[in-house]
Amino acid sequence: KAERADGARPPVAEWIRVVGAREHNLANIDVEIPKRRLTVVTGVSGSGKSSLVFDTIAAEAQRQLHETLPAFVRGFLPSYGHPAVDLIENLAAVIMVDQRRLGGGARSTVGTITDIAPLLRLLFSRAGTPHVGTSDAFSFNLPAGMCPACEGLGTITDVDMDAFLDPSRSLNEGALLAPAFKVGTWQWQVYGGSGRFDPDKPVRDYTEEERHALLYGTDGSVRIGTNGQQINATYEGAVVKFRRLYIQKDSAEMGERTRQMAGRFTTSVGCAECGGARLSRAALDCRVRGHGIAELSAMEATRLLDVLATFDLPDVAPVVEALTTRVGHLVDIGLGYLSLDRATDTLSGGESQRIKIVRHLGSTLTDMLYVFDEPSTGLHARDVRRLTDLLLRLRDNGNTVLVVEHDRDVIAAADHVLDIGPEAGSGGGRVVFAGDVAALSSADTPTGRHMRSRTRLKDEVREPTGSLAVVGARAHNLRDLSLEIPTGVLTVVSGVAGSGKSSLVHKVFLAQHPDAIVVDQTAPSANRRSTTATYTGALDPIRKAFAKANGVSPALFSANSAGACPACEGMGVIYTDLSYMAGVVAPCETCEGRRFTSEVLAYRLDGATISDVLEMTVGQACEFFAKNRSVGPILRAVVDVGLDYLRLGQPLTSLSGGECQRIKLASYLHRRGAVYVLDEPTTGLHMSDVARLLGVLDHLVDDRASTVIVIEHDLDVIAHADWVVDLGPDGGSAGGQLMFQGRPADLLSASGSHTATYLRHALG
Ligand code: ADP
Ligand code: ADP
Ligand code: ZN
Ligand code: ZN
Repeated sequence: KAERADGARPPVAEWIRVVGAREHNLANIDVEIPKRRLTVVTGVSGSGKSSLVFDTIAAEAQRQLHETLPAFVRGFLPSYGHPAVDLIENLAAVIMVDQRRLGGGARSTVGTITDIAPLLRLLFSRAGTPHVGTSDAFSFNLPAGMCPACEGLGTITDVDMDAFLDPSRSLNEGALLAPAFKVGTWQWQVYGGSGRFDPDKPVRDYTEEERHALLYGTDGSVRIGTNGQQINATYEGAVVKFRRLYIQKDSAEMGERTRQMAGRFTTSVGCAECGGARLSRAALDCRVRGHGIAELSAMEATRLLDVLATFDLPDVAPVVEALTTRVGHLVDIGLGYLSLDRATDTLSGGESQRIKIVRHLGSTLTDMLYVFDEPSTGLHARDVRRLTDLLLRLRDNGNTVLVVEHDRDVIAAADHVLDIGPEAGSGGGRVVFAGDVAALSSADTPTGRHMRSRTRLKDEVREPTGSLAVVGARAHNLRDLSLEIPTGVLTVVSGVAGSGKSSLVHKVFLAQHPDAIVVDQTAPSANRRSTTATYTGALDPIRKAFAKANGVSPALFSANSAGACPACEGMGVIYTDLSYMAGVVAPCETCEGRRFTSEVLAYRLDGATISDVLEMTVGQACEFFAKNRSVGPILRAVVDVGLDYLRLGQPLTSLSGGECQRIKLASYLHRRGAVYVLDEPTTGLHMSDVARLLGVLDHLVDDRASTVIVIEHDLDVIAHADWVVDLGPDGGSAGGQLMFQGRPADLLSASGSHTATYLRHALG
């Protein structure tokens, strides 16, 4: 059994044993995972890694935990189905650390989510001067500490005067733009029909007093109405009224349309009372060694660590120490550029996952099973080492760490490697290698070969056809950068996490060049009815082919026709929604998952039913429809982006972020002369998938005369670029500068660039 050559740790005493795993494409496999070790599961995209790690091992751990709950509690939870596996032995309680973004709204910040904020509050309540009270008095989420004006949000929603009022118009001409004040309505009469204001005078000609009375007055009453139907109403200025009716009201009580309407006439502005710091005056005035809590919360973690080091406070030494450890974890994991007050909903998927790691590093629970999904996402080669150190630290705390990963350096740090493959879909699902890294490096598998291979520069780079200017980029940490992005070539924007790549590309470049096409990782549709076949547009010509072969209407083969199974409406599965938790999916019993009525299933095309076709992978369907001039090209584009293993009827909701990005890319392959922006397209890709992705990007540039701009850390992609824009040198305020722009070969001699250092290293 796998043992590291260093022999520092005792032999593995226990293994998690998985017997007969069959979920999705898994080929009835047996797998063993050493307990209290770091195991990396790798393999090409679609080979079955997630099916094994998440859908089998983690799912079974959750199911067993669920079984231990009292029946009464279980009644409130979704019922977990058995994963398709015979047996799993020696399982531990599982903690999944995934890339789902941290929601939580405005009240959730880096500080609150990592539990660093409570420690900081404790510090101020114990060591702050003047002494203000308990730690609650420093929390913007509790009445004792929140700024009374903004209730701890730091911003105030108020009427957006530009949208609300058109001063060039009179009241009769509809100067008040909100529908509530439409000319002629009762609400409008208060202003335009009460004699208080001249209804024909444009508002910009009002005196200061008149304008104030119109918008903010709250004095006396008015008589409104016509034809004897007169009533007395209390006068209220238009803004005051709008605030009362639509802003101060709980938005949950408003209908969706009202909410949208209110949104159009309001804007969010920084709170003047607390300056956006969210806290009460007393909390803001309190000082520890001259520093305020808002100041410390707004500092980048790296700087905060320096300040904490100067806190020589014997009475609260344990608190300072705990703070130092936690903030140190943030820095260690490459997030030193974040501040504690950063709202978590502004973090990327990779940043979110790393924040979750920090939260767990503080945990003293042992013997847990930690499961990670590609934790190197968004990390520069420089920071991968820090990540692996943290994974090893979790292991050394007595936990089993199971990581799905493609990064060479993370794989190299593993105690044990499982290589799933050899290919994707039905060509995969088997264990092609299990053992330690030394053995993997000499194994004849795609992963083994890539572990031995070296990054190489291209012999020749392309000549640009022109350029796109980026002028005066100052978003976030960018230091007023101006540069040119060459057209007709592949440009990679590189730099460590937090250096400003997204800010440059998403905030500035896209604002200055809005016609560029962003191919991102968000799901193309949240609708379960969307499948590979519907999204790519392959289904229409497929239905036509079925109709033609059988002399019936194409509509019969549509999921929203009478031909679809009435029980599942053509989905083959039944979803049970649970309002606040993940829903449950079960195969449809009426059609046994075949989606259509038996009448429709009697129609065949070259021997296959429509249900058979929807069960085909894109690769299989490509052969099946090879001669069909409408279907063939669509499916070949999907194969070209490396998604040949997807099933035609597979719901898009089951796709990972990387897969979503690639299926979107497939839908653009026929366009010409476009500008594409891709953010870390190698996410979820095995080293051997990256070569294929590069082929697709080359195709866009060479055959489609397009410009491709990619934010990327992968050194193979950087080496393959025609042009590199490197930002740095570090993250946050220590970044935001242009370190280099030019050809990859010239990057090698750039000084001060971390990318240059690691690229030199990878080229060997
Ligand atoms: P990996 O994690 O290695 O990229 P997955 O385990 O996600 O691979 O996928 C393995 C195979 O199972 C692929 O062919 C994929 O299309 C299929 N698959 C994954 N999820 C589902 C699902 N929810 N329904 C049907 N097939 C799925
Ligand atoms: P990269 O893409 O290179 O990882 P980013 O452009 O995301 O870097 O970040 C650059 C800097 O801008 C960092 O200091 C980051 O914390 C800051 N930043 C990014 N997004 C936001 C945001 N929504 N609010 C405040 N600061 C942000
Ligand atoms: Zn405030
Ligand atoms: Zn059905």
